[in-house]
Amino acid sequence: MIPFVDLQAQYRAIKTEVDAAIQRVLDSTAFILGREVEAFEAAFAEYVGAKFCVGVNSGTAAIQLVVMACGLRAGDEVIVPANSFFATAEGVSTAGATPVFVNADPVSYNLDVTRLEAAITPRTRAIMPVHLYGQAADLDPIFELAARHNLVVIEDAAQAHGSLYKGRRVGALGRAGCFSFYPGKNLGAYGEGGAVVTHDAEIARRVRLLRDHGSEQKYRHEIVGYNFRLEGIQGAVLNVKLNHLDSWNDLRRAHAARYGSLLGDLEAGGALKLPREMPGAHHVYHLYVVQTEERDRLQQQLADAGIQTGIHYPVPIHLQPAYAEHGHRPGDFPVAERLAGCVLSLPMFPELTAAQIERVASAIRSAVNSSLFAARA
Ligand SMILES: *Cc1c(COP(=O)(O)O)cnc(C)c1O
Repeated sequence: MIPFVDLQAQYRAIKTEVDAAIQRVLDSTAFILGREVEAFEAAFAEYVGAKFCVGVNSGTAAIQLVVMACGLRAGDEVIVPANSFFATAEGVSTAGATPVFVNADPVSYNLDVTRLEAAITPRTRAIMPVHLYGQAADLDPIFELAARHNLVVIEDAAQAHGSLYKGRRVGALGRAGCFSFYPGKNLGAYGEGGAVVTHDAEIARRVRLLRDHGSEQKYRHEIVGYNFRLEGIQGAVLNVKLNHLDSWNDLRRAHAARYGSLLGDLEAGGALKLPREMPGAHHVYHLYVVQTEERDRLQQQLADAGIQTGIHYPVPIHLQPAYAEHGHRPGDFPVAERLAGCVLSLPMFPELTAAQIERVASAIRSAVNSSLFAARA
C-alpha cells in the first residue's frame, strides 16, 4: 500500500528529538502557550521574515482573528478564491464579514487575478489570496489592485510553509498571513495548530488579545475574545519540525520533478495535465495535483493497485450548501467547477521513496493504457 501521506515515517525519523521536546513540556507542565510556544513564535516569525508571529489553535482561527483584527465587520466583503479548502471562506464568515468568490486559473489553480477587479464592490475591504497546494498566488497584480482600491491583502498560507514568491517567503508579504499546522500540512503539529504572521504591531496585538479571552494581563479583559490558544506540546513539536522544513520541502520538490519526468509523455499524449511551477513561484508541493477527464476511473484503478490519492476539492466553495444563501449556480465560476471534477492529488510527502514514486507512475501508465482510458481516446 502506498499512503497519500505517511506521518508515521516522519515521526520515526525525528522520534528522539520530538519525544525529548514533548517530555520538556510534560516536565514543565506549561501546557498552554508558555516558553515552547514563545520560542516557536520567534523562530517562525524569523523564518517567514515577519516582525510578529502569534500562535493560535488552528489555521481557521488564524483567518478569523486576522479578519477581525483588520477591523472588518458585518457587511464588509473579502474576496476569496472559489477553489480552496472551505476554511478560507469560513474564517471570513465566522469573523462576521462576507466572502465573495472569484474563479480559478486553470494552470496555476490559484485565483484568477484577471477576475479580481470585477469582484470589487463599494463594500470590498480585503483580498485573501490562497497559495494553493504550496504555490504562491500571483501577488504583484493583487497588491497593485489592492493599493488602487485601498484594500487589505491577507494571505491564506495554510498550504505554503516555506513557499517563495519572487524569492521571498509567503505569509509575510501582505498585511498579515495565516498558517495552519494541521498534522498533514508541510509544517504540521501533533494536534491542532495555526499562526498569524504580520509586520503590523497593532494587528499582532489584537490577534494576541482575541486568542486569549481579550486579555493580555491575567483577569483583565479589554475586549470579548475567544479561547484560541496554541498548546505547549504543539509549540514544542513545531520547534523541532521547523528545523527540518526546508529539507522536507526540497524533498517534495524532488519528488514532484520525478513525477514530472516519469509522467511527461502521458501529458504530451493528452491523458493528464501535470502541475506547473509558475514564473516567480517556488512551489513547495503540499499537494501534487494532476488533472484528467477520467479522474474517478483513475482514482479507482489506483485504489485497486493499493495507491491512495485525494481530491482537493470535490465541490468548489461557492456551491457548498453552507453558502446556498449567496445564490450561486453551476456556471458562475466555470474553471473552479471544472477543476472539482478533474483534479487528483497523488501521494506526496517528504519520506516518499523513489520506488514508491515509480510504482505510482507505472500504475497511472497502465490505467491510461487500459481500455477505460483508450475508449475515450
Ligand atoms: C488547512 C487549511 C486551512 C485551515 O486550517 P486548519 O488548521 O485546519 O483550521 C485554511 N485554509 C487552507 C487553504 C487550508 O488548506
